[in-house]
This record gives sequence, structure tokens and C-alpha cells, in this order.
Amino acid sequence: MRIIDSHTHLFNHPNYLDNLIQTMDDCGIEKCCISGLGKLFMCVDNGGLQAAIDKYPNKLIGAFYIRPGKNEPKDIKEAYESGFKMLKVTLPHKAYDDPSYFPLWEKAQELKMPILFHTGVVTTLKKAPEERISSWFMHPMRIEPIANAFPDLNMIIAHLGVHWNDDAAEVIRMKPNVYADLSGAPTGWRVRVDRIGITHWLWWPGAFKKVVFGSDVIFNQIPQILAEDKARLNKYNVDQKTRELIFAKNILKILGEK
Ligand SMILES: [Zn+2]
Repeated sequence: MRIIDSHTHLFNHPNYLDNLIQTMDDCGIEKCCISGLGKLFMCVDNGGLQAAIDKYPNKLIGAFYIRPGKNEPKDIKEAYESGFKMLKVTLPHKAYDDPSYFPLWEKAQELKMPILFHTGVVTTLKKAPEERISSWFMHPMRIEPIANAFPDLNMIIAHLGVHWNDDAAEVIRMKPNVYADLSGAPTGWRVRVDRIGITHWLWWPGAFKKVVFGSDVIFNQIPQILAEDKARLNKYNVDQKTRELIFAKNILKILGEK
């Protein structure tokens, strides 16, 4: 089965890119969608990411990092022209659904670039109180008005909302153009969700069809995340067709790729 990791980052560690590529090969991960979130997250920036996707064009799908309030629609257009295929968005200065940000989402829709939105409480690796970061701005319900205004814009709610699982799940249930990933640290929100049972949130028939596989961890934790995700699907007897959607077909479809 084809596997594409929809949510990875390029950390600014020695040999990180080569380690990631080796891990992908070991795990049978064909491609990953990757972004650089800059210094606050100990990552490379968009420039560093550009070099990586130029080096491994068949392995890496570039996700251009934007911060609403800092970036403009023209940045998205330039990213698209440089070969980026999607956007990764976090740390907005106002709520994701603030009307002043709509030109960004409109540009993404026009260029058919899906958006991976961080949702839920955010952890920056570097402390930055001066940024006045608020997770309220990244509540999953902030995606609803964007989904309504831009029905042809495909979006992924990262981490199923972390602690706002109820809201994230209902948004993906109700909005055809919104998906979720179950990414995150092996010791984080996934532990709670698996203890309760994820079907508490993904309760409707076909709910797993709105999931895309993503890891969002350091390269050496990817095998564990992948194994846990496969085990979870086994536990709930998720059928093969749905697994194909989760592991590759959903993300390829929204990227317009085969
Ligand atoms: Zn992430």
C-alpha cells in the first residue's frame, strides 16, 4: 500500500534531511509533505525547505509556511511558482477566520494549494512571550467559515484539534473539503484519545475516510507513529479502501496528483 506522510517538518539539526529520507525508505513512505517553521520551532525556514525539495523532488512535497498577519497573497503566489504544492499555517496574529485573512485563503483556493492548519494548543520549542501566541486563534471551529467561503479549498485540521477533538471531528464530518490528521508526539494527545477510543469522536459511518496520515514528529519517531496508526485501523476493522484513502489517496487527490 502506498504511504504518504502529509505532515512533516524539516528540523534544523545536522543531517536531518538525510535521516528523514532514510527513515522514509525504511518505513515504505513514498513521499512526505514537509514544511519549515523557522526558529521558533527549531526548523529551517522556507528558503531552507526550498533547497530540500530541490534536492529530493520525488520524495518531498513542499508545504510553504505562512503566518497570517505576516504573509500576503503574493507570497503564496511566489511559493507556488517556486514549486511549493501546499501551505502550512500556524501562529496567526488574529483568528484564522478573521476577514482580513480571507485574501490568503482565496489565493490558496485559486492556486489549488491545500492548507494544513495547526489547530489546538501550540508548543513552540523556543519560548517567545513577545509573540502573544494564542491557541484560541487556532480553534478548529475557525476553519468552518473558511470552508464555507472557499468550497474548492481543501484543508487539513492538524492533530484532530489536539484537545478540541469534538469540534474538529464535527467540522470534518460536516464539511466535504475539510480533513484531519492524527499526528503528534507519541506521548501527547493520541494517548488520551486511544485510551478512550477514537471512535468516540470518529463515530459516524465512513468517518475514517476523512483522515489523512501524518506524523509531525522527529524522524526517529515516525516508525512508531506509523505502527500505532496501523494498529488503530486494525482495532476498528477499517477496510482496505479506506486505508488507501488515509495513507495516500486523500492527500494525492487534494494535491491534484496521482
Ligand atoms: Zn506540524
